[in-house]
Amino acid sequence: MRNFAEEIEQRKQTGLYRTRRLVSGPQQPELTVNGKPMLSFCSNDYLGLANHPGNLDALRNALPETGLGGAASHLICGHHTAHHQLEERLAAFTRRSSALFFSTGYMANMGVISALAARGDTIFSDRLNHASIIDGCILSRATIRRYPHNDVAALETMLANTSGHKLVVTDGVFSMDGDMAPLKELARVCKHYDALLVVDDAHGIGVLGPEGRGSIAECGLSEDDVPVLIGTLGKAVGTSGAFVAGPEVLMDYLVQKARTYIYTTAMPPAIAIATCASIDLIERDNARRDHLGSLISEFRVRATAMGYTLMDSRTPIQPIMVGDNWAAMALSQALEEQGLLVTAIRPPTVPVGEARLRVTFSATHSFEDLERLLAALNSCRHLLDNTDLAV
Ligand SMILES: *Cc1c(COP(=O)(O)O)cnc(C)c1O
Repeated sequence: MRNFAEEIEQRKQTGLYRTRRLVSGPQQPELTVNGKPMLSFCSNDYLGLANHPGNLDALRNALPETGLGGAASHLICGHHTAHHQLEERLAAFTRRSSALFFSTGYMANMGVISALAARGDTIFSDRLNHASIIDGCILSRATIRRYPHNDVAALETMLANTSGHKLVVTDGVFSMDGDMAPLKELARVCKHYDALLVVDDAHGIGVLGPEGRGSIAECGLSEDDVPVLIGTLGKAVGTSGAFVAGPEVLMDYLVQKARTYIYTTAMPPAIAIATCASIDLIERDNARRDHLGSLISEFRVRATAMGYTLMDSRTPIQPIMVGDNWAAMALSQALEEQGLLVTAIRPPTVPVGEARLRVTFSATHSFEDLERLLAALNSCRHLLDNTDLAV
């Protein structure tokens, strides 16, 4: 048998050991962590909708009508009117022909990719794609070719030299870097080489583009340019679950083939109703996105002036590059001592030597919250003085 305890010990010694913090109370910037009040800059609740009174009311009001449990899979007797209405709402919101509701983004990526590519096909995947995309690729048994991050020229060469069914998959916004995929160019080469383009917009939906319709909409692209859009509902939308949206024939195909859709219990239908309420809010509430944008630009100017190395991001994901695992942990620890929660992200989530602090902003952060973060960062700047920055 493998020595599991020894592997854990090794992780501890290399600064890679992971622990869980115990949070109580609702998700919001003011968190109670291990019983202590903390100001959090690490959630993906970008619009502050995870604890929005309107969404909570929608959930409470839905329960008498829907009950709690999903009770069966969608293809047995679990496909509730509430799920169906959410799918129609999501299709309308993303300006797509149809949509399919999954239980999580992880399951959506696993199910969609493994259904749309098979043994003998080739999947081209950005080197920095999310773990769930990587796992979906592996599950498909297709040939996997990873292309250098956002390198359309390299991808184009690979596509030109590959025959058969081709699928290109990318994050819309990269989860640990905050930068965006060059979707216009990707759409162009995919069309030219007859490759199916799949975009996982987990961090773009709700935040980017007109009415928060995401990175594809922000680039002015349509379903014709990017046939498959995957989005999660647990991040900016503030509820739970995920969706895929695109042409009807593809959604129909996924209902037949996506195993993570078929062989799992449907989400509690009340969640679907609360999610519809949240989408309504996202569509009409531009003020949240505007405030979030102001926090982001102010943070970038001030943190850069302090000598911190930020990444090429204009999204709510604003990592501070550190490099060394221990230095990233020390910085995170020092901030924690000042009551601020900013998590260190280490390998294998990011490449070796690229440990970082992943700062994320929410529309529910105030400018006073931002000032607290900046003051703390200013007082901790010396911790990185002797560190080799990776970028
Ligand atoms: C978070 C995330 C997922 C997984 O979504 P869940 O709904 O949390 O399972 C998928 N892709 C990307 C890029 C993500 O950041």
